[in-house]
Amino acid sequence: MKIRRIGVYRIDLPLKESYSLSGGRLVTERLDSTFVRIETDCGLEGWGEGCPWGHSYLPAHGQGLRASLDVLAPSLLGRDPRSLDTLNRVMDARLPGHLYAKSPIDMACWDLVGKAAAEPLWRLFGGEEPVPVEINSSIPTGTPEAMVAGIERARREGYRVHSAKLGGHDAAVDIERIDAIEDALVTGEHITWDINRAWTPAIALEVLNSVSSTAWVEQPCETLEQCAMVARKVRQPVLLDECLHDFHDHLLAWRTGVFAGIKVKPNRVGGLTRARRIRDLAIDVGWKMHIEDVGGTALADTAAIHLAASTPQPYRMASWPAHDHIAWDPVPGQGVRNRGGFLVPTGHPGLGVVPDEEHTGPPVAVYS
Ligand code: MG
Repeated sequence: MKIRRIGVYRIDLPLKESYSLSGGRLVTERLDSTFVRIETDCGLEGWGEGCPWGHSYLPAHGQGLRASLDVLAPSLLGRDPRSLDTLNRVMDARLPGHLYAKSPIDMACWDLVGKAAAEPLWRLFGGEEPVPVEINSSIPTGTPEAMVAGIERARREGYRVHSAKLGGHDAAVDIERIDAIEDALVTGEHITWDINRAWTPAIALEVLNSVSSTAWVEQPCETLEQCAMVARKVRQPVLLDECLHDFHDHLLAWRTGVFAGIKVKPNRVGGLTRARRIRDLAIDVGWKMHIEDVGGTALADTAAIHLAASTPQPYRMASWPAHDHIAWDPVPGQGVRNRGGFLVPTGHPGLGVVPDEEHTGPPVAVYS
């Protein structure tokens, strides 16, 4: 099987409502997603999606992704899409770094691997059956009352696990948010406090040592070292997200011996091939994981859920469906959807999501 043609599609995704995180530092109104379609000489085609969360959340943005594809795509023509380790080495040699741009290519190739093998990806990632993955909400930063209202709305939609976005320079405001939300949770619900790097270590220690909550705390500060300093001095388990990019970052995190979990996001780490490697490391070292993508439609969400569903339950926490925040659906009805608070990958070969140009519009670039 050889790659014959690569099509690139720009997908504009308005959010249902403005989304604020990191103590209000980062506000996003719409996402700039990119779909990649890889056609082969045997008639099979694979699809992938790369969708940074706006342009201020991570060092990644939609235009940068497509500019990187312009460099990467020609080097992939004529190669076998099933040879994923080789393809990733080819991309790394052609364009070091830029992991987020490699992810949609890697995803589309995995779709082809699954289709060629007539197997869903959850099985190729090691799963025995399409395990339902619990969903978790993502509540943007706001007043305590607005955040509690967000949790109540999510509860009505089936969410039992929540992630609340905190962070800022006023410890008292975050203490107020945590106490109000803890009081509003009902039996059986769980929450993570996601700071998105907004706290200094001093504020993190002040807040976390003032509240009674012992829930998970995610990426409290900017750097791995700052997060480790906090993790050593608080009762809450701490997990990492934005400061983890390549495999080496995960090794450094493990060496500190103070973190209890990580977020695994294919687009942040460079695709499903690398995400699976990190997932397997996390199992070996005993980390718990949220496995989900940075952003995007049900296409990107479905890819992440194949990996989550194949991950043993003791290591797997809930997954966030990014498409739940988006005001329109370019893959209507396809892929994983909220079914009573769970996402279930299908048994279709590959990803199980097949976009069409009626919804994507024509490609913005074609390489052949
Ligand atoms: Mg996070």
